[in-house]
Amino acid sequence: MSLSEIDLKQFIQNVPDFPREGINFKDVSPLLKDAAAFATAVSLMARAVDVEEIDYVAGIEARGFIFGSALANALNLGFIAIRKAGKLPGEIIAQSYNLEYGESSLEMQRDAVPKGSNVLIVDDVLATGGTAKSAAKLVERLGGRVVGFVFLASLEFLNGREEIANYHQHTLLTYD
Ligand code: AMP
Repeated sequence: MSLSEIDLKQFIQNVPDFPREGINFKDVSPLLKDAAAFATAVSLMARAVDVEEIDYVAGIEARGFIFGSALANALNLGFIAIRKAGKLPGEIIAQSYNLEYGESSLEMQRDAVPKGSNVLIVDDVLATGGTAKSAAKLVERLGGRVVGFVFLASLEFLNGREEIANYHQHTLLTYD
């Protein structure tokens, strides 16, 4: 089966009212569990970017770690972790943001991004865009350049794209 013949959406489970009432959670567990679907997703992400433009792939905790590290490996690039609050040791910088379901904060180690390096940011789902924007701010505060974003899926009705309109964005799957 060729890459484009695998319908990745069938591997994403909709979980109504999780983690809160009114949120339709996109559960990527079935996709990760299926070797061909997972490989297809990572290959499609790799094809969508220009590896020559990227120095590091950064993933947003937690599911962005899974896709981001697989993509970094496929592109033969190093991986940088953008973590939830309180997880990283040493000197860190923090950036808070609003989530589709609440408020949160992301952190990076102060020496995570070599100054002037080009960073591609990866996550599983783009919802309101607050998380992605906050991740970009962190990378930029550390002196990196955000070359773009790659998402497995975006929830178009939440207009997250507008939050990060200044950046190149690629999404494998869209939900209207
Ligand atoms: P946002 O900041 O609203 O764009 O939220 C994006 C972040 O929250 C990503 O890290 C997603 O993993 C997670 N997220 C938000 N909404 C959903 C959803 N409906 N299904 C799965 N993950 C979501």
